[in-house]
Amino acid sequence: MRDLLRFPLGPSPAERAAGKVWLVGAGPGDLELLTLKAVRVLGEAEVVLVDDLVNPEILSHCAQARTVWVGKRGGCRSTSQAFIQRLMWRLARQGKCVVRLKGGDPGVFGRAGEEALWLHARGVPCEVVNGVTAGAAAATACGFPLTMRGMTMGVTLVTGHTEHGDTPNWPALAHSGTTLVIYMGVSTMAQTQDSLLRAGMEPSTPVAMVENASLAQQRHRLSTLAHMLADARDFGLRSPAILVVGQVVGMAEALVPLAGASKRTGTLG
Ligand code: SAH
Repeated sequence: MRDLLRFPLGPSPAERAAGKVWLVGAGPGDLELLTLKAVRVLGEAEVVLVDDLVNPEILSHCAQARTVWVGKRGGCRSTSQAFIQRLMWRLARQGKCVVRLKGGDPGVFGRAGEEALWLHARGVPCEVVNGVTAGAAAATACGFPLTMRGMTMGVTLVTGHTEHGDTPNWPALAHSGTTLVIYMGVSTMAQTQDSLLRAGMEPSTPVAMVENASLAQQRHRLSTLAHMLADARDFGLRSPAILVVGQVVGMAEALVPLAGASKRTGTLG
């Protein structure tokens, strides 16, 4: 009983008075991949600012809250980052419990760092709730693990490009001995393929391309470094998609029968 009483049941009275911003990970889309903590915080929210990669069905957990869509899809006109930050600040200063709901994990290409710094600098309490990142869901969708003893030394989560047009150090990554999980990599796939091949990565290195991981409309195509571009075109690969490059992807076909209980299957190509 004493343990139960010590368990935090929500924001303290002081936190409520001050208002607070929660940066909450909505996961890759499957409702069942939402954390219990995300569900609790959504249930306490007064205002929820929703990113565009969030599955709208998740909002059933915050029916009491006002919801504002603040999507920022690459290439589209969308709410500016500065506007979103000022909105969070203003609402928190009014004493509101504000949730910023983001696809996947807020700390993986989710701007959690810059938003938390910005809010802390203005005296607004801010807390992050983890979500399942799309890269992890993409691997599971195809039935392979991101790491495997004797096969890979680790995992690198990397963006295909930045908004300023920078690209990762592909030659270094080609020799990193890690599984490469590439976010936002569809539009720059030709450059990525070219850079990895030029760096000496084996053309036969297995590649997985996973669209809408964990959602009902999930699709995937297995390929190789040499053929990934042609296969992506043939498949009609569209964003949001994750590319995974590495030997672990080769385990997909072996493990797919074991993952047969899953309600979602993809295209093995
Ligand atoms: N914070 C998110 C990533 C946001 S960056 C996370 O942790 O997952 C946006 C990119 O994430 C997309 O361009 C795409 O590469 C990837 N992404 C997000 N959701 C996805 C999904 N359900 N399936 C495949 N890729 C996804």
